[in-house]
Amino acid sequence: RAKQLGRGRYVMFDETLARNAVDELALEVELRHALLHGEFAPHYQPIFRLDSGAVVGHEALLRWNHPRRGVLLPDDFVRIAQDCGQLEAIDWQLFGQVCGRMAQPDAGTGFVTVNVSPQHLRHADFDRRLLQLLERSGLPPARLLIELTEGALLDDPVLVRAILERLRAAGVQAALDDFGTGYSSLSYLHSLPLGKLKIDQVFVRELDPAAVAGANTVVAAILALARTLGIGVIAEGIETAAQRDALLAMGCEFGQGFLLGRPGPTPWHPAADAAGTRRG
Ligand code: C2E
Ligand code: MG
Ligand code: MG
Ligand code: MG
Repeated sequence: RAKQLGRGRYVMFDETLARNAVDELALEVELRHALLHGEFAPHYQPIFRLDSGAVVGHEALLRWNHPRRGVLLPDDFVRIAQDCGQLEAIDWQLFGQVCGRMAQPDAGTGFVTVNVSPQHLRHADFDRRLLQLLERSGLPPARLLIELTEGALLDDPVLVRAILERLRAAGVQAALDDFGTGYSSLSYLHSLPLGKLKIDQVFVRELDPAAVAGANTVVAAILALARTLGIGVIAEGIETAAQRDALLAMGCEFGQGFLLGRPGPTPWHPAADAAGTRRG
């Protein structure tokens, strides 16, 4: 809030803003430190076939193991990391950790998805770098999916399509994250090489036997669209058995959510499953 003082002078920052700016600067320095000292690590949330309950893959989610503040979630720092130009370095470090971990025998043979921010994908050499990383880690390209949001597709559609097509040719699929929450039209969907659509949790949350009729219609429409395009669907944020059952009844193939399994520091494997510690 700018305060007008005498003689037309302005003080741009009041106390609140200044405190935030100082906080942001401190966070920026801490982010740089964290990158160098290995404080970022992936957590893995299992993705299930809804009919059989089998784990088919994982989503890798960024966590910051902060020495004083504990485990921080992306919402706490991703925007600032983005603003100060550090998110790409963080993402590449994370992708390296994820591919290396998933290439180990005890991680199973399922797929893993990583989240790519829109600004990040717009680099012409993104695909080359990702394929190099896969080769170094020994993870087969067919086991990696990149998750994009609709924003990533809008910024530079020609470049992004070219990158996605080169990745697909090499075996890496793309999934459209948070589907239904963006501003884009449906018209580009058929022209993009997408392997999966992820239904955002806002639509899943409203799925309930008691819900208003309109809620299920959105999910049903997304499922029909995906079927027409031959794209698989993953529902996000399943928290109740009623939501899972509704999705199953509507023919949704895959899902993730706290009901089925929470994100944790290791990929799920049969031993971890037997312990049952991460069931919601
Ligand atoms: P997203 O990609 O849509 O990830 C799903 C988020 O939903 C995750 O939050 C996950 O922990 C949470 N979630 C999963 N199941 C449930 C559930 O049943 N209920 C509820 N309420 N939430 C559930 P998280 O880990 O805090 O990540 C938030 C967002 O941060 C992600 O949304 C993604 O956009 C971004 N993000 C995460 N990891 C990365 C990364 O490595 N790089 C970048 N650039 N962005 C990331
Ligand atoms: Mg995601
Ligand atoms: Mg999502
Ligand atoms: Mg999200």
